[in-house]
This record gives sequence, C-alpha cells and structure tokens, in this order.
Amino acid sequence: MRNLKYSLLVLFSFLFLGAPSFAKDVERPKLVVGIMVDQMRWDYLYRYYDRYGEDGFKRLLSQGFTMENTYIDYLPTYTAIGHSSVYTGSVPAIHGIAGNDFEIQATGISMYCTEDDEVVGVGTDSKAGKMSPKNLLTTTVTDELRLATNFRSKTIGIALKDRGSILPAGSLANAAYWYDGSVGNFISSTYYMNDLPTWVKKFNKQNLPKKYLSQDWNTLYPIDTYIQSIEDDNPYEGKFTGTEAPTLPVDLKKLSKDQGMGLITSVPFGNTLTLEFAKSAIDGEELGNNPAGVTDFLAVSLSSPDYIGHRFGPNSIEAEDNYLRLDQELAAFMKFLDETIGEGEYLLFLTADHGAAHNPQLLKDKGVHAGYFHTSSATKKLNEILEKKFGHEKIVRKLRNYQAHLDYALIDEFDLDEDEIKTVIVRELKKMEGVAFAVDQSKVSESAIPHLIRERIANGYNNQRSGAVQYILEPQHYGGKDGGTGTTHGTWGPYDAHIPLIFMGWGVAPGESHRTVHMTDIAPTIAAFLKIQEPNGNIGQPILEVLESKK
Ligand code: ZN
Ligand code: ZN
Repeated sequence: MRNLKYSLLVLFSFLFLGAPSFAKDVERPKLVVGIMVDQMRWDYLYRYYDRYGEDGFKRLLSQGFTMENTYIDYLPTYTAIGHSSVYTGSVPAIHGIAGNDFEIQATGISMYCTEDDEVVGVGTDSKAGKMSPKNLLTTTVTDELRLATNFRSKTIGIALKDRGSILPAGSLANAAYWYDGSVGNFISSTYYMNDLPTWVKKFNKQNLPKKYLSQDWNTLYPIDTYIQSIEDDNPYEGKFTGTEAPTLPVDLKKLSKDQGMGLITSVPFGNTLTLEFAKSAIDGEELGNNPAGVTDFLAVSLSSPDYIGHRFGPNSIEAEDNYLRLDQELAAFMKFLDETIGEGEYLLFLTADHGAAHNPQLLKDKGVHAGYFHTSSATKKLNEILEKKFGHEKIVRKLRNYQAHLDYALIDEFDLDEDEIKTVIVRELKKMEGVAFAVDQSKVSESAIPHLIRERIANGYNNQRSGAVQYILEPQHYGGKDGGTGTTHGTWGPYDAHIPLIFMGWGVAPGESHRTVHMTDIAPTIAAFLKIQEPNGNIGQPILEVLESKK
C-alpha cells in the first residue's frame, strides 16, 4: 500500500509538476535584427551580384534562406506603409498607416504618418522631434515580444528617417532613434524618454556626420568598371543642389557648408552612420545579452538608398556604387554581430519597404511604353468638370497616394450627391493619359480590374484615411513632370512591389524558395520563430519553408 501510494505520488508529481528531464526547453534567439533597405528592389541582389564580396549580400544568400518571390500586398507602395506592414503583418486598411502623409477624411486634415503634437524632441528643439507611433492602430511583432516577456525584452528602432525607425519599433518600444539633419544628431522624442541615454550622447559627440562629409563621394572602384549602369553624365538623373552635373565625385565638404549635416542622408555614408549607431546601440544597451535571458529586438532601416535612388534612379553609377558600398557595410555589421552576439545566436532578416521604377523618360527613349502622370493638372481638370456639373469649386481637395480626396465639408454643406461625384471622377480619370483603371473604393470588388490589383486596392484602403476614388496608372508610369529625373515608387508594378526577403542565423538553414509570399508574412514568421503571439492586426501567414528549414 505504501508503495502504491508512493508510486501514485511520483506519477502525480510527474504529471502535474512536470519532469524537467523530459521537457524540451523553448529555445529562442538572443537577438532579432531586422534590416530594411529603403527602396531596395529584389533584383539588386543579382544585378550587382558579381561585384559583391563574400561576406555581405552573398553571405546572406548562401547562409540564409531567401524567399525569391516576396510581394507587397497593398497600395500604395510607400515607405511608412512598408515599414508598418513588415512589422505588423498587416495592411493600411487595418494598421491605419495609409501613406507617408494621409488625410483624415472626416476633417480634411493632412497628417504626416508619425507626427504627434503632444510630444517634443529629445536631443533637439526642432519639429523633427515631434514624432511618435500614435497613428499606428495595431501592434507590431516588436510590441508582441514586449508583451510576451512582460516587457523584459528590449526593443529598439533605428533609422535616419523617423518613420523608418518609429513604425518598426512599435508602440511599446524601449526607444526609437532617428536623425535630425538640422542638429546633425540622432534624436528621439518624449514618447519614449525624457533624456537621451549616455551612449547616444557619446555617439552624437563624435560628430561623425561632419567627419563623413569631409570626404568626396567618389566611386569605390574605377568608374569605367561600373558596367551595370549607364554613363555618369546623362539627362535621366537629378543632381545635388550646387553641382553642375549628376556625376561623381561629389565634393561633400563644399556642399555641406551650404546644406548642413542633413546632406549625409543622401549619400552612401548615411548607411555607415546608421550602422555605426546600431553597433553603439547593441553595446550601449547590451542587446542580445538580456539579464532576464529573453530575446531582444533591434529594428534597423537604411534610409540613404531611397534618397540616392530618388535622385539618380536604378540605372545610375550612383545607385550601383551605393549597393557595392552597402554590401561592405553589411559584411562588417554581420561580422560585428558574430563577435558580439555570436554566430548563429541571432536571427537576422533583410527586406525592403518597396522598390522603384526605372526612369520613365529613359524607357521612353528606348521605346518602352512609359510616362508621367500630371497630378496637379489632373486635379485642376477634375475640379473644372465637377464645378460645371455641381456648381462648386474644388470638390476634389487633392490627388494624393493615387487617390482622389473629396471635400466632405463642402459636400455636406450643400448636400451634394457624393455617389454622382465619384462616378464623374471615375469616368474622367479613366479618360486621362496614363490611367489604366479608376474605381470608387466602395465598388472595388465588382470592378473590372484584375483580381491581384483589386485585392491590393482593398488592402490599402483605410476608411478614415484614404481617398474615395483610387486610380491605377499604366505600367512604368508615375506622378511627375514630363522628363522628370531619378525615380519614385508607389504603384502595384513588380518594380515597386517585388522586394528581397532573406532570413539568416538562429533557427535558419540555407535555402531558397520561389513560392510567392507577401510582405505581411514576415511578422507572423518572426512571431512563430519566437513562439509569441502574432501582431493583433496580422493578416499574413508564417513562411513554412523558412521555419522548417532546419528540420
Ligand atoms: Zn521607402
Ligand atoms: Zn522613396
């Protein structure tokens, strides 16, 4: 009897108290490092492949798992939305970041994605500090990590652009830091803290922007070896203010005398500065060495490739040089992570917020159908037609984010027929050169638009923050003046919507898949790796190839 009692006791303790020797511990990486390269097209992995070193992009491709067909699953393809969607697993319809700037439809008030009048800058007195994630309506995977560990995990966002730092870091971040060109420093806001930590102050004291801007931006290799780009001096590229031609080298010391320390954002040394700051954050905050033994998260975004891309476009020596330099910077950064956190101890992913088009004029001159949509003259024309019909001026407040925004105050005051107004706008937009489709947002599902685009319109449409009529331009068209230089992004086209996505390190075996996945699948994949809840507006699916690559 005694023996039976004893046996039962043992059995019960085993069942209810757990048997540590049998249970598998939940394993997690020490640190997650998210790297977003602003405006990196997927094909840049291969366009410049031959010139990359072994330890940068090539290391990611050979040691990591690359999802070769990753697409953005909403419209429009802009920076703030991309950063939000990667980290929330969600889309503007749900997470609320409907553009870099968007309009509150009820009031017509224009809102910058991260503006917040209730906070002030820390490390600056300028407007650049009045930023927070308050417009973000859902949690991020970084937030969920904080919630899952009872706020013991440390999460930090870093970028030159405020939106590239604040939106990935989420609402519960320990800190987000971004760059204020007017003071030449990394700053934050009172949303996060009241004073910059010592390590940030020390970093800022080094005056690295000034140091980096005291050199020329010259090509890394002899200029005649840049065979992936058109000649340096050409009519398709913009030039720096204060220069004669869109050519390298650029005398940054001279330009920064007039333009100040903001210039660093527009040259490859902006990446150097960002990654140096990221290293300081890892050291200063001891990221990846959490005293509670939980996972930390560093969200880094590299903003300079976007500024360089906008000015010079994807066919420029400047863009090529930026990626060859970035390759080296990433190699050094990953080496630093190996040494500090330990190879295989951190989970890294690299992706982008959107791509970019080839310059339309360049394509036109080569015989490809391409062009520019004249947004302001289209607005004027729409309003002239609407005025004739409805007797009121400026019914369309603005065309923004490829949407027509209506003046609802006017419509309400004079009891105008909103449906009829939208019908006229749709009809007139469809007549315009370069417009492929136009649709009333409430009628998207019954429209004669290919399913793929319809779905992205619906995902991108936020009731309160998006315009009432969506228009889709023909391929290789974007808003701008005829012959406009450089490039931009924002459309559904593969050049804007096809992004790189590579996971490397903890829990990942090398591999590649050509299955189509989406930007919104990134956050649930990270959540699955960390065994934490996916963000609360998530619509994505975990990417099984990556999760199971080691099994
Ligand atoms: Zn961007
Ligand atoms: Zn951009």
